[in-house]
Amino acid sequence: MGDHGIVWFRRDLGLEANPAWAAATTRHDRVTALLVIETGLLLRAGPFRRQAFLDATRELDRQLAAIGGRLRVEHGDPAVLIPQIGSEMQASDVYVNGDVTRWSARRDAAVDGALRSPMRVSWGTVVHPPGSILTRAGTLSKVFTPFWKQWSNQQTRPAAVAGSARIATATGAGIPPGTSDSTPMTDNLESLLQDIESYPETRDLPAIAGTSRLSTALRFGTISPVHLVELVGTDRPGAAAFVRQLAWRDWYAHTTAENLEIDRKALRPGYDQIVWTTGEEADLDFTRWTNGMTGYPIVDAGMRELRSTGWMHNRVRMIAASFLVKDLLIDWRRGERYFRHWLSDGDIPQNAGNWQWVAGTGPDSAPYFRIFNPVTQSRRFDPTGAYIRQWVPELSALSDNSIHEPWSLSPMERAAAGVWIDETYPAPIIDHAFARERTLHAYQSALASQIDPNEDKAP
Ligand SMILES: Cc1cc2nc3c(=O)[nH]c(=O)nc-3n(C[C@H](O)[C@H](O)[C@H](O)COP(=O)(O)OP(=O)(O)OC[C@H]3O[C@@H](n4cnc5c(N)ncnc54)[C@H](O)[C@@H]3O)c2cc1C
Repeated sequence: MGDHGIVWFRRDLGLEANPAWAAATTRHDRVTALLVIETGLLLRAGPFRRQAFLDATRELDRQLAAIGGRLRVEHGDPAVLIPQIGSEMQASDVYVNGDVTRWSARRDAAVDGALRSPMRVSWGTVVHPPGSILTRAGTLSKVFTPFWKQWSNQQTRPAAVAGSARIATATGAGIPPGTSDSTPMTDNLESLLQDIESYPETRDLPAIAGTSRLSTALRFGTISPVHLVELVGTDRPGAAAFVRQLAWRDWYAHTTAENLEIDRKALRPGYDQIVWTTGEEADLDFTRWTNGMTGYPIVDAGMRELRSTGWMHNRVRMIAASFLVKDLLIDWRRGERYFRHWLSDGDIPQNAGNWQWVAGTGPDSAPYFRIFNPVTQSRRFDPTGAYIRQWVPELSALSDNSIHEPWSLSPMERAAAGVWIDETYPAPIIDHAFARERTLHAYQSALASQIDPNEDKAP
């Protein structure tokens, strides 16, 4: 095709196996790599996600420098800047990897509307593009297992290979400063590949590094999910279990593409009628939850890990989220926003999708009456209390057995471990048995209010 093409990088900040990059560098003689830092966007992200974004951006710039170019970084409104840069460069086409959120759909429509011809969209941030895994009726499955079966049977697209275009060297406004000590992604990949056989057994244990910790790299596209599937394969059970998680990730992206309000509205009808607790007491409980001071050690460990590192183990995300929704009866949307702010992998499709799963409001969620008991979960998934000891050190002298429910010990036993309830560590802010009944009642009332009283009446 010749001439000049622009690749607009958004959440696909790597060159390897990036289909938008491959298409542009194959079709054009010269390519500009562009990043637009949208006004206010960096400020809205929490500190860990902001840092991860800046790290990924700098790494992308290094990759471009290695092939003779630079990343052009601009700040402002893409709908204004991209057409401007397009005419400045006399570029005929703009290439992107698609995104699925309400906000990105609006942004991309505005950019498309301002360009002479619509952007060329690839789907490098998911394994299979939204809309490509449908039931026989042509709809997206509301149940994961059939989606997963079809997803696995579908041929994975080969990882895209870049062409030979010359890369422009303009740098624009530059990348904002920042420092990072994050673990290189290659370390995570290496240990994933080494330990993949044990993944199904270890992935649920927060005390050990049994998962890949690649979620932030996937969030920012510094690793391609297609490339990851190619690397890991699916022939061994451990690898298949890992790849299944990537299918969950795709499923939530596909679900979001069809439900742009996923972070605002329950995906199951009726569940938006739940009367959540509000007011001063609920606000206080919410703060205790965010501060890791609920008196339930496994919940507190998770919430403290999140605030210290920007990451939390999946099992603990489930326990902590369930505690907010089903024990404190606080609206899942509040927790979703909080997690999204603090997580370095925070992402509307994955975060809202999982919160709706936990709250029982999403498709294929656990039924609402299955309520996690935080103590049982703690005993099962952190049997020695090693994870709790790491994040709640004031309980570290308690035995493996008693660390999960310090309130149940006698004052003498607690004193021997240096634990003083409500002094060194809080008493549980709610009784789980009471909370369970309250939640069942709230969900049942909401669902009952949906039933039309005249529906079953004989004419
Ligand atoms: C309440 C809650 C909120 C969450 N919020 C997010 C979020 O904002 N961003 C995010 O990427 N993940 C989110 N997850 C999913 C999951 O917890 C993380 O993806 C996982 O913990 C990341 O760790 P890992 O890379 O070591 O995972 P691994 O076990 O190594 O899994 C590999 C990859 O599969 C994907 N994956 C794994 N579990 C899930 C899942 N349950 N749903 C969707 N994809 C999954 C991730 O991309 C992950 O990197 C959330 C889960 C819960 C319960």
